[in-house]
Amino acid sequence: MSFVDDLVVLRPEGLYCPPGDFYIDPWRPVGRAVITHAHADHARMGHTRYLAAAPGEGVLRARLGEIDLQTLAYGEAVDHFGVRVSLHPAGHVLGSAQVRLEHRGRVWVASGDYFVAGADDDPAEGNATCAPFEPVRCDCFITESTFGLPIYRWAPQRELFADIDRWWAANAAAGRPSLLMGYSFGKAQRILAGVDPSIGPIVVHGAVDPLNRAYRAAGVALPPTRLVTEVIDKSELRRALVIAPPSVQNSTWARRFGDASDAFASGWMQLRGARRRRAVDRGFVLSDHADWPGLQRAIGATGAQRVIVTHGYESVMVRWLTEQGLEAGAFSTEYGDEKEEVAESMTTVGA
Ligand SMILES: [Zn+2]
Ligand SMILES: [Zn+2]
Repeated sequence: MSFVDDLVVLRPEGLYCPPGDFYIDPWRPVGRAVITHAHADHARMGHTRYLAAAPGEGVLRARLGEIDLQTLAYGEAVDHFGVRVSLHPAGHVLGSAQVRLEHRGRVWVASGDYFVAGADDDPAEGNATCAPFEPVRCDCFITESTFGLPIYRWAPQRELFADIDRWWAANAAAGRPSLLMGYSFGKAQRILAGVDPSIGPIVVHGAVDPLNRAYRAAGVALPPTRLVTEVIDKSELRRALVIAPPSVQNSTWARRFGDASDAFASGWMQLRGARRRRAVDRGFVLSDHADWPGLQRAIGATGAQRVIVTHGYESVMVRWLTEQGLEAGAFSTEYGDEKEEVAESMTTVGA
């Protein structure tokens, strides 16, 4: 499975490009790191130099502070020891990129995390908060597989956001706050961009607010939001949509919303067990990752003859790829943002 001239190999520090002498999303401190996106498991502290897509600069700095960061516009290339490096939209979160490497006529692409609009979706509807996933032709595609099981199939987004709007409107009519929990970076902004702000006021948790500011500064349109401390007339909260990270469940912060209806937005909500463990009124299946058909379409569109699967259900995806006649293998990585959220929920709620 491993050849001496591979453009990316697995090292204890992370995914490494031998001819270019740099890493992609390393999990241990290194000299040069190309970062696919600012989620904590992909963008870590402690590297000497960072390279990332320009639209992600604000969110990256909001999370990592003062770092030595070089940015590239999508499609712009730099040469590093004879390796041509360029970044291409991944549709996952603001600034998320696939890394394209070209060396002596061979092309490899490392996807990072990615999201593609469903087959039934208007492709223009993709992820409204960032540039849509762009297939890049390559010889070898390193793909994520977070939701790489046939049970994961996302409904069209307009249906999903209509569901959230109906839940919120019904709560507002009954005078109950709507507490919707989801990851602060990416998920929260997807929700904000997708809901109907005419239903009522929108309140966000303090962990969500700095990321909203980075999105707005990058030109992403989000409806007006307030922190709970900025809501003077507390009776407004009874009609409010409150967006907060999963960690607030059963916290004093959440208790101030009294008899709020609570809900959780995640791809994992497709599993009944995950909903039960979460112990929330509603589970909305909203993911920033490709579903099973989306992974297959995205992999097919690269034209790659060789595919290396990173985090997710590696063995199931590798078997499926092999059945398609492709050369397939896996890298064992330390990625897996959304899984940590579920693990965390199991310990807080008690499985
Ligand atoms: Zn991610
Ligand atoms: Zn990831």
